[in-house]
Amino acid sequence: MANVSVNDARKDYGAFKAIKGVSMEIENGEFVVLVGPSGCGKSTLLRMIAGLEGITSGAIQIGTHVVNDLPPKDRDIAMVFQNYALYPHMTVAQNMGFSLRLKAHATPDIKARVDRAARILGLESLLERYPKQLSGGQRQRVAMGRAIVRDPAVFLFDEPLSNLDAKLRVQMRSEIKELHQRLKTTTIYVTHDQIEAMTMADKIVVMKDGKIEQMGSPLDLYDQP
Ligand code: ADP
Ligand code: ADP
Repeated sequence: MANVSVNDARKDYGAFKAIKGVSMEIENGEFVVLVGPSGCGKSTLLRMIAGLEGITSGAIQIGTHVVNDLPPKDRDIAMVFQNYALYPHMTVAQNMGFSLRLKAHATPDIKARVDRAARILGLESLLERYPKQLSGGQRQRVAMGRAIVRDPAVFLFDEPLSNLDAKLRVQMRSEIKELHQRLKTTTIYVTHDQIEAMTMADKIVVMKDGKIEQMGSPLDLYDQP
């Protein structure tokens, strides 16, 4: 677990200013949702925290480290994407263990971590299946499993539920919340869905036009006129 601290972060794409000076403090174990209309910069900010986008100026700190110059693999984060990005030629177990193999973890350690994640996510009976043999919700669980096995300090979610139908979205919402209550991993979750933000967040960060417009608990924001 770790806190995340963003200090006057900016991102320019040429002359276009995508992130215009964002500062926020995310506590250890907190579940923070970044919300706002399409194009407001949510995904860019998340990708800057992940290290998938460079930062034009300002600082991003994860735990005690300023990570501005670190590649994603050295940031102690794991990201879950909207399109799952599962490897089609690998089984569920291989998909979940792959990043650990790349980091040369020992096979017994990988197996133990994959088993633990499978237990947490209810995937025990699906470990030998291939992605195309899974439902949308099961694929999303495998994508989360790949993040869990790494036991990162911070989970980053980029619109993870937008490819699911409405019923499954509601179910996965509570599964992700239960996961957070169980693991207490610091989480930053991007969505354009206000209901998702209201039901999942400890703290909501409302973005608009590359800046933070409002920040507070769901109740704080709900109570405002
Ligand atoms: P959101 O996630 O809130 O929908 P994004 O962070 O994806 O918004 O995009 C914020 C703004 O930055 C948008 O106007 C988008 O067009 C622009 N943008 C994102 N990536 C690039 C890029 N690689 N080059 C130029 N502009 C970009
Ligand atoms: P490879 O053929 O590449 O060695 P494996 O089938 O051995 O692939 O599995 C890839 C990774 O996933 C391994 O590191 C292994 O520990 C893990 N793994 C495979 N099957 C299981 C399983 N049923 N339960 C838990 N972990 C598994």
